[in-house]
Amino acid sequence: MAGITPAQAWQRLRAGNERFITGRVRHPHATSADRAKLADGQRPHAVVLSCSDSSVSPEIVFDQGLGDLFVVRTAGHTVDPSVVGSIEYGVLYLEAPLVVILGHESCDAMATTLEAMDYLEVPLGSVREFVERIIPSVLSAQRDGFTAVADFEARHVQETAARLIETSAVVSAGLSAKTLAVVEATYKLRDGKAVLRSVYGDIGDEPAAEDALPLLAA
Ligand SMILES: [Zn+2]
Repeated sequence: MAGITPAQAWQRLRAGNERFITGRVRHPHATSADRAKLADGQRPHAVVLSCSDSSVSPEIVFDQGLGDLFVVRTAGHTVDPSVVGSIEYGVLYLEAPLVVILGHESCDAMATTLEAMDYLEVPLGSVREFVERIIPSVLSAQRDGFTAVADFEARHVQETAARLIETSAVVSAGLSAKTLAVVEATYKLRDGKAVLRSVYGDIGDEPAAEDALPLLAA
């Protein structure tokens, strides 16, 4: 899949999500011939960083198959050094022209974070590792006057993209060279739509006015 533009990559995801919404899924690239081809190497057309939530599986909601997406998942799509390294691997070594940060509504990682903040309770075990990475997004939204959970979830997607761009020289270089775009999207559980919220770079598409969020990275 090397050589496609960020816009072409986004078009594939968008078309796949349309098929998923309307129940016309193709479950592409899952045959024995596809597996044989992939044994020689992968060329995914997008990197997706999504929440680990069991109802938000990127290959399913974008109707993609084997070899199509390089997926990184953590609870609350939080970014740590190994997440950044995984994303950079997809961009630099596998030449994926698109990174999608996929958040979602009714996020349990966000609910766990809000509970910790409300009740001043440190989460059990290593759960704190992702909670500590979501708290700054909540503080950022609260500072701007937001109080609804959906707004915290949206801000966390914005902050995740901003953090990735600030942290990763590979991602910011790709954006400067226009060989890469970074998309912020939020998934709606009931209707299955991955809603485009904002874009760094050019994907030949833009968010609907009612969905658009400002970019936080410089
Ligand atoms: Zn979640």
